[in-house]
Amino acid sequence: MEKVRVKTPAKINLTLEVLNKRHDGYHEIKSLMQSVSLYDFLTITKQEGSNDITLSGNKPDIPYDENNLCYKSAKIFFEKINIKNQGININIEKRIPVAAGLAGGSSNAAGVLVGLNEMYNNPLSIDAMSKLAATIGSDVNFCLHGGAQLATSRGENLQSVSTPDLNVIIIKPKNLSLSTKDIYTKYSELFFPHNAQEEFVVGGPKFQNTELIMNAIKDNNIENIALFLSNDLEKVALGLYEQVQEIKNKLISVGCLNAIMSGSGPSVFGIYNTEIDFYEYFADYEMFEAFTIDKGVSVY
Ligand code: ATP
Repeated sequence: MEKVRVKTPAKINLTLEVLNKRHDGYHEIKSLMQSVSLYDFLTITKQEGSNDITLSGNKPDIPYDENNLCYKSAKIFFEKINIKNQGININIEKRIPVAAGLAGGSSNAAGVLVGLNEMYNNPLSIDAMSKLAATIGSDVNFCLHGGAQLATSRGENLQSVSTPDLNVIIIKPKNLSLSTKDIYTKYSELFFPHNAQEEFVVGGPKFQNTELIMNAIKDNNIENIALFLSNDLEKVALGLYEQVQEIKNKLISVGCLNAIMSGSGPSVFGIYNTEIDFYEYFADYEMFEAFTIDKGVSVY
């Protein structure tokens, strides 16, 4: 096969609990992750007469070199299946905002694994791809499997969950992008002083929102699912960027059941179950109307 196309969906976190800081510097998390119908599109093309992995795309704000997660993913794939000097181009049509807490880069990386596996007649099992995915980044394995998954450890350990269909509105401030690393570092300074392994609880006991939301999911109770949306990293972002609070307030005031920051932000998503004309209220923001989906990256 000379060419393959892959759809790579964005991810939101219905809950994100940061449990503790590990010796390797990563944080132990518990998160209910969910794929949504906002996609980037990859086209992977074999380049005869070339030995290189090249990249192209429609957005100037990501690197098109070895720092791109797609490059890393392709390199790891070729090493694993022992193919040397195969020239390919990966074109990335980006719709998912970059550095927005929506795992766009991770989803692209997972898409390259699935796309190349298809191109080379499936040399790797899904388990083998999962192991590779976890070495590329914490969210890549989630993006490979997608749907709704209870993610633990750094986020790479997954347990599939069946969620009801949800309408999701995603809003991102136009000129604000956040680095995942910076937000976790700030969180750590605040909540795990002196590298303590024990959770340092500020402002009273923490609610076990993931357990609560799992019960709401079992009951198919969308109001309660919305009620128990939570994100520990929001505590940091709200203190630093007032736009995050403004968007949350606005989403709730226009009729969303609840609204919460996704991942390391700054995107905020709302869940709603009535007709709302979001364009009227969010013209000054990047805005994406989406719904929950039950799979991750896919060849199309
Ligand atoms: P996460 O929610 O997984 O933390 P994010 O949505 O906050 O991720 P990404 O959009 O994945 O962030 O991008 C994070 C960083 O990765 C950016 O600084 C970007 O330059 C870099 N990057 C490398 N490759 C890609 C890619 N293919 N798409 C997007 N960003 C990429």
